[in-house]
Amino acid sequence: VSRSSAPRLVWCQWALIGDRIERGVEIEIRHGRFTRIARGVGPAAGATVRHGVSLPAAANVHSHAFHRALRHHSQVGGSGRGTFWTWREQMYDVAARLEPDTYHELAADVFAEMAAAGYSAVGEFHYVHHRSDGTPYPEPGAMADALVGAAADAGVRITLLDTLYVHGGIDEHGRYTLPSARQRRFVDAGADAWAERLRGHRFAAHARVGAAVHSVRAVDPQAIAVAAAVAADLGVVLHAHVSEQPAENDRSRAGLGGTPVEALAAAGALGPRFTAVHATHLTDHDIALLGGSGSFVAACPTTEADLGDGIGPFRRLADAGVTITIGSDSHAVIDPFAELRAIEWGERTRRRERGVFTTIELLGMLADGHRALGWDDAGAIASGSRADLVTVALDTARTSGAGDDPDAIAAAAALSATAADVTHVTIDGTDLPSARLTSGASIVR
Ligand SMILES: [Zn+2]
Repeated sequence: VSRSSAPRLVWCQWALIGDRIERGVEIEIRHGRFTRIARGVGPAAGATVRHGVSLPAAANVHSHAFHRALRHHSQVGGSGRGTFWTWREQMYDVAARLEPDTYHELAADVFAEMAAAGYSAVGEFHYVHHRSDGTPYPEPGAMADALVGAAADAGVRITLLDTLYVHGGIDEHGRYTLPSARQRRFVDAGADAWAERLRGHRFAAHARVGAAVHSVRAVDPQAIAVAAAVAADLGVVLHAHVSEQPAENDRSRAGLGGTPVEALAAAGALGPRFTAVHATHLTDHDIALLGGSGSFVAACPTTEADLGDGIGPFRRLADAGVTITIGSDSHAVIDPFAELRAIEWGERTRRRERGVFTTIELLGMLADGHRALGWDDAGAIASGSRADLVTVALDTARTSGAGDDPDAIAAAAALSATAADVTHVTIDGTDLPSARLTSGASIVR
């Protein structure tokens, strides 16, 4: 990512500053950072003018890039009837075909789609580590490097969440099972082998490493404790899939004597650098543990709807102290605004009441995820922050009619806009080329 050293000015018709939609905002950008913000001003000579409403660009906290290949190919009319578990078999078929070069090509298109939709950073929850027969590549980080290179191609930052995966699952008697043939390429010999690869990654400036444990199904409590200690030692974030399905909770209780959140808490995983992905089927105790520890949740509501997972208790989590962030996970759609609507509409449908989250709270979820990915200096239009912006048009068929009312403009962005209404994206001070905003995905299948 090239950065001009000369300061430049961007004038926004409307912009989200803190928790307010402000009119006439002048932003100075220098060395990829916001250096000065002025409100209530007109456009200066030479300033880049952005009509519509500009927001801090979004963080996509949970992604498996290769799942994008299943879009259009796993629905009713094809082979789509089924459950999360039948979908998982289709997903394993795609995973079996990936190699570093094809994964780079596929992921570059997926990350370009994200950037065009307004995401400036992605958390790639990466577990396709080895060859399909389970033997390591000569360069142990070959697949991780393919993903990091793809993010560079697309112009987005990436947190490569190198994921520990040890077991096939937990059986009905509560015992860990051996990996299946198709899980072999995900599996490390143990937490120490995983930690060695994690410590060996050397990435360019747009990328950083994070840690992940796949789930309590795939990682036993002793290995989770090692992973948590390694993440703390390296000062990197730690993510885990948590309670996406009721069956996962049943097996956790049978094998571990508690819920996945309880098992993760006992292993020392929770805290302000921890993100629970999904957090769909939680007990009151789980919610208290996540909130009390200052953990993040990565809500993936379009995926959770697509897979029939359920509706997560996002309002209760937020009230308990959890920071709610978003992820597009399986990439059934890649649209940060669709995630916000799905969070709010899921809660409204379940509660039969309106306004569960305020529109400003929803817009905050777009960018709060940068901290969950370890980019603590991103996610706000504020002096000193990384210069990430997404501008949403207010004159399209979907967004027109908000007028000069800041509340209506916030609602237009949070509850009516789509990725197609995004007109400009700036990442670390660099404007995304407009050609990339219309990039079609040439996905290998
Ligand atoms: Zn996932």
